[in-house]
Amino acid sequence: MAAGLAPSAPDYPAIEALMSKILLIAIAFAAAYWLLRNHRRRAGRRPDRDMQRPADPQTEDMVDCAHCGVHLPRGEGIASGSRYFCSAEHEREFRPEH
Ligand SMILES: [Zn+2]
Repeated sequence: MAAGLAPSAPDYPAIEALMSKILLIAIAFAAAYWLLRNHRRRAGRRPDRDMQRPADPQTEDMVDCAHCGVHLPRGEGIASGSRYFCSAEHEREFRPEH
């Protein structure tokens, strides 16, 4: 058939259109998959954060006075080098040199 050559020519734009559609669908799927992965990662991290949050204030943010040993939040303590004090008086009393 002479028409045997003809179908190949109109087929190209059809294939290109199909390819572009497949590409778009593939990109859409990849984007959806990527978004789902990110959502799952964020959702998976939340329980870990909730588990660590109650522990952090006690272990990291609590310090004890180097003079009397009282526990207090780091924000309320007076920092002197690597030591913390409950009050300025205890900071002075702990340094006999000055
Ligand atoms: Zn103290």
